Amino acid sequence: MKTRNIGVPGIKSPERTCSDPCCPYHGTLSVRGKILEGTVMSVKMKATATILHEYEVYVRKYERYERRRRKIHAHLPPCLDVKVGDNVIIGECRPLAKTVSFVVLGKPVS
Ligand SMILES: [Zn+2]
Repeated sequence: MKTRNIGVPGIKSPERTCSDPCCPYHGTLSVRGKILEGTVMSVKMKATATILHEYEVYVRKYERYERRRRKIHAHLPPCLDVKVGDNVIIGECRPLAKTVSFVVLGKPVS
């Protein structure tokens, strides 16, 4: 199966293929919207990973940044090798489940 170009630069493409229809590389899932970076917290769900996304928000009153963190459920296609603690890039996609509207795209090219 041919690996599709998902149109997001700076990501290592998977070495294996898969037959997951919800894979952005080998299925028909389109990635559109937000592209975020985060750390993998858990891969215990079936084909889903929990990603911790940390970001900073500027508070004008105090002229400082406050740190915020958010846990995001992201679909994990079987062609990607992702462990807990890995830094990954996730992309927004259509809602795949009640709490899943992101998909893991892979590790950033370092
Ligand atoms: Zn795949």
